[in-house]
Parts: sequence; C-alpha cells; structure tokens
Amino acid sequence: MSKTKHCEALRVVVRCRPLSKREQTAECENILELDDKLGRITIRNPKAPPDDPMKVFTFDSVYGWDAKQSDIYEDAVRPLVESVLQGFNGTIFAYGQTGTGKTHTMQGVSDDPDMRGVIPNSFQHIFTQISRTQNQKYLVRSSYLEIYQEEVRDLLCKDNNKKLDLKENPDSGVYVKGLSSVVTKNANEIEHVMNIGNQSRSVGFTNMNERSSRSHAIFVVTVECSEEGPDGQDHIRVGKLNMVDLAGSERQSKTGAKGKRLKEATKINLSLSALGNVISALVDGKSTHIPYRDSKLTRLLQDSLGGNAKTVMIATVGPSHKSFDESLATLRYASRAKNI
Ligand code: ADP
Ligand code: MG
Repeated sequence: MSKTKHCEALRVVVRCRPLSKREQTAECENILELDDKLGRITIRNPKAPPDDPMKVFTFDSVYGWDAKQSDIYEDAVRPLVESVLQGFNGTIFAYGQTGTGKTHTMQGVSDDPDMRGVIPNSFQHIFTQISRTQNQKYLVRSSYLEIYQEEVRDLLCKDNNKKLDLKENPDSGVYVKGLSSVVTKNANEIEHVMNIGNQSRSVGFTNMNERSSRSHAIFVVTVECSEEGPDGQDHIRVGKLNMVDLAGSERQSKTGAKGKRLKEATKINLSLSALGNVISALVDGKSTHIPYRDSKLTRLLQDSLGGNAKTVMIATVGPSHKSFDESLATLRYASRAKNI
C-alpha cells in the first residue's frame, strides 16, 4: 500500500515514547527502530539469535520519541477534525499497553501549551474554525463517558456510579440513555467539561492508572452547524467526534489474574478484539457482516466507524526490550487494522 492521502477513511499511525528514567536506570535496551520517511518500524526480539530476521511493519506514519504533540495533531488528527466540521463523524483511538503514552497522547498536560494532547488541541481547532465563519450558527455539545466491565457510566454526572443503558432508535441509531450533554461556547468551557470528567474518572480507585488501564474513556464532541441556504431555509449538518483512550491492551489474563480480576480481564480483551474485528471487517471491504454488536464499545461507535466516517488509530508502544511481547502484539493489532 502506498503512502497515504490525508483524508482517507482509516489512518493507522504508531507513536513510540522514549525510554523512561526507570528503564534507563535499569539499562533497558531499545529494540525499536523507526523510519519516519517510510512509515516503517522494525522490532528486534531480544531473545532471538543475532541472525534472526527482524520484524518490520509499515504504517501511514510512525512517530518517534522526539515527535511533538503538535506534530501528531497536525499530521494525523487535524484532517479528521476538519471533516467533523464538515458534518462527518470521526473516531480517534489510542491503543496500546498501559504506560506507553495513550493518555499522554490524548490528554497531555493541559497547563503546558506544548504538551497539550489530541483532545484539548481539537477543542482549540474547533472553536478557532467556528470563530472564523460568518454565515453559520454552531452548537457544540459534549459528553464524556467510560466503559468499564461492559458497563457505561457518565463522567459528567455527579452520580457517576449509575450504569447507563445503550438504546437504539431508527432515527438516531445507538445512543446512551440519560447521558449528559453539555453545550459549550468556547475552548475554555469545553476544557472545563473535560477536567470535570477526568476528576470523576479517578474517583473510587486507589490509583488513576489502575482504572484507566481497565476502562475505555470516550470524549464525544457533537458539532451542529446551521446555515441559511439559497432557498431561504436553514440547513443543518451534524458531525460527531469521538476521542477514545482505550483500556490497556496488555493480555490481562496472562498476568495471573483470578476471580473478579480475571472476569474483568476477559471483558477488556473481548472489547479490544471486537474493535479489531470491526475495523478489519471494514477494511476488508468484502465482509457482509460487520460485528458491531459484539461489544458496548463497537455498538456505541457504530455510526462513527465505517460508512462516511473517518478513523484514526494511534497505536502507542514503549521501546524497551522488556516489553517486546506487548509491543509486538500492539504492532500486529495495528497492522491488522491496516490490512497489509
Ligand atoms: P498510558 O495512558 O498508555 O498508560 P501514559 O500516557 O500515562 O500511558 O504514559 C506513561 C508515562 O510515560 C507518563 O509519565 C507519560 O508522561 C510518559 N510518556 C508517554 N508518552 C510520552 C512521550 N511521547 N514523550 C515523553 N513522555 C511520555
Ligand atoms: Mg492512561
């Protein structure tokens, strides 16, 4: 597959974080090699003999440890958000093992302008675009939810322990019954909404990482635009942007989990493999059946995956030889989505 055009239906990119301080102290080896011109990533099995062929994967883009947050946004995300402003749906996923940079990529550090991730950058982008238009009226709404153990919770609701149901109706498709939807008028307001949701995400868990490694967080921005046509009537177009910080992709059942933990692990693996199956069925193009119904995640995103919708998957990996198995699994998952 040739190096791709910007506005195609699915882009798969890989981002590799630097060795952490701890990994450096432990003298971890870097087993990844990136060629950003070719979008190629090479992974070396640290246990294999030196003459063993290295595994090579090719993606739409690869980003190394020196890639800036703004590089990711401008290159991989901006075209998708642009199409949401045109009235299409779009979904951005961060997929990878816990600790590889999913939240760093999606959220970043909000009080440092250079470190802001995809979500706050999209807010800035959307409201800047809106402020430049003259003859259109916009309504921007946002929701923030979490899927944990195949249960949906509203991160913007005080009573965020309430489980919400997925419903389906012929006009609007699949929706979450009772989910809050907050109208915001500028980037500051929507960022405030995001912060409230982030706070509520960490409640009830001993640590944030523990929860985020087991749940999917989805920030949804709906952009509705109304414009008077030549016929004097108002014409409305609606685009929906889903930004998803997925649960950690590590094979949880291998970590010796038992009882409740094992059940939890099975559900996480199930929804990530359901997502992989949906994407590869879409990419395949020959499948008559797209298995959206196999998980809450894919049911919920049904109208934003496939059809006219655009998808960007950002797979995140760490460079250390200690995470060879997980990094290889992530690269395989991502490349399956690319169907190469
Ligand atoms: P995840 O959400 O996948 O579990 P995090 O986003 O929490 O991972 O990242 C784990 C750690 O690595 C954090 O301390 C984060 O700041 C750091 N990190 C992740 N990606 C990068 C990067 N590209 N550059 C520098 N530090 C990063
Ligand atoms: Mg995280």
